[in-house]
Amino acid sequence: MAEIQMSHIVKQYGDGFPAVNDVSLDIADGEFMILVGPSGCGKSTLLRMIVGLEDISSGDMVIGGKRVNDKAPRERNLSMVFQNYALYPHLTVFENIAFPLRLAKMDDAEVRRRVNEAADVLELHEHLERKPANLSGGQRQRVAMGRAIVRQAEAFLFDEPLSNLDAKLRGQMRTEISRLQRRLGITTVYVTHDQTEAMTLGDRVCVLRKGKIQQVASPRELYDQPVNLFVAGFIGSPPMNFLPARLEGRSLSTPFGPVELDEKRAAAVAGRELLLVGIRPEYFEDASLVDEAKRPLGSVFRARVDVTEWLGDQQYAYIPYEAPEEITNQLRALSRELDAEELRTQAIVSIDSTSRIREGREAEFWLDSRKVHVFDPSTGENLT
Ligand code: ATP
Repeated sequence: MAEIQMSHIVKQYGDGFPAVNDVSLDIADGEFMILVGPSGCGKSTLLRMIVGLEDISSGDMVIGGKRVNDKAPRERNLSMVFQNYALYPHLTVFENIAFPLRLAKMDDAEVRRRVNEAADVLELHEHLERKPANLSGGQRQRVAMGRAIVRQAEAFLFDEPLSNLDAKLRGQMRTEISRLQRRLGITTVYVTHDQTEAMTLGDRVCVLRKGKIQQVASPRELYDQPVNLFVAGFIGSPPMNFLPARLEGRSLSTPFGPVELDEKRAAAVAGRELLLVGIRPEYFEDASLVDEAKRPLGSVFRARVDVTEWLGDQQYAYIPYEAPEEITNQLRALSRELDAEELRTQAIVSIDSTSRIREGREAEFWLDSRKVHVFDPSTGENLT
């Protein structure tokens, strides 16, 4: 079993703010867990504490049922795959994969057996005699993983392994890592700041901010039910729109007009006054393309389109809005969670590519009000 259990893990460098602040997280045997968050959120530090490259200030790190806080990296039997894969350029692929076994003075027959087995899984047989310089990025990645497989490591740990690669190769490697991880079924922890990697690779994603866990959930759940403003704004591209709103009965008064809340949402926000409405770009549609039956289920409003971007399968439209200054100021004062940048003065909407909306003209938009999120501006909590 290579379950990784973290309980109240803290990392304190000097006397400043803890880099990792009371993190409790259980990673199941065979699970692919992503650690994601903006620069400085503590994700690398957490990974380094799992692997043993960093001391743990307090809390318990349990791997495969054993507490490892005081164990050296080599006693933890984990395998870290670095950004540059750390391959030896003068050694062949075979010897690169065999390296940890040679270090352990394993006999030659067993080394051959294990390297060949790994080469089978990784489809590296025809490259075993080559040097790393003659391999593609994807093949190098597989060699690095081969080294981890022969050691029969209990878990793979990746620290931003793809961040040096160009976009196309990154896409290919992403699929490759995902395929291999599923085939091998080895517990994997993967650090990234790239939300596409986070959303496509992991079984579950742990979103960190300032050393604290914000939410641990499947990619779909993170997207559909972000627990707070931070997760809502961090996950999704283009990002969620946050509009200032005032609650009036069962309706939210927004810069685009009233948005009627369904029963569940109305109950969740009852008694509040100022709120933030979170609307993903695709919750909007060109109203002229929405069929009659669906129209009453959402809100319709007119707005001027500033800029459009056509992307083939969809298009983005930027629609400026004016929020009453009084409300914006109150919201800013209330909300420590809100970056100035997040209270934008335009919304981005994603609509069907067949839409005939034009830049500089007014258009009618339909908003699926059954999907909107409503946030408490003072705590950032998603109330819906
Ligand atoms: P990035 O994506 O930029 O690598 P990260 O989320 O991986 O960021 P960490 O590298 O884990 O973040 O750093 C978390 C915090 O701890 C940061 O504020 C960083 O400055 C601080 N930190 C990291 N290493 C040390 C160190 N050796 N000494 C002091 N502070 C450190």
